[in-house]
Amino acid sequence: MSDPQQTASHRTGRNRPGQATAAFLRGEALRMAGLCTECGNCLRACPMRRLAPAAQDVDARTVLSGVRALLRGEVANTASLSWVAACSRSAQCHGVCPVEGLDPAFMMRVAKMRAMGALGDRPQITVQEDSQFSPRVKAFARLTLSSSEQEDWL
Ligand code: SF4
Repeated sequence: MSDPQQTASHRTGRNRPGQATAAFLRGEALRMAGLCTECGNCLRACPMRRLAPAAQDVDARTVLSGVRALLRGEVANTASLSWVAACSRSAQCHGVCPVEGLDPAFMMRVAKMRAMGALGDRPQITVQEDSQFSPRVKAFARLTLSSSEQEDWL
């Protein structure tokens, strides 16, 4: 019997993690929310903040407190939602965190999943459907895969 969640996910093209993965990510979210000190190093390293209108001229502690709220599955403030929505996974924040065992790039990834409702929460940011995502991935893959690999994978 097909998994209704996977079927819906296939229909929408949205990547919804399975239940075990979602449970793991929610656990990781809580762990990271507990570790983050709201120092703001990741926010200062982020090239996308300038594309997050509501996160301009807002102190780092406010933005990060909203990210931590998201990680706990709570309602986040507008500044943090704006920043999380703008995250493009540049990973420029990777390595700037002073807390051992905390990778801001992963933290932002999980926070964005929670904000989009991908882990079962009420969505707090709009999810943009990207109908060209798969064709773009395939076009890129064709540049790197041999013809037999393309036959197997694409
Ligand atoms: S650098 Fe680390 S501790 Fe500082 S705000 Fe970002 S995630 Fe939190």
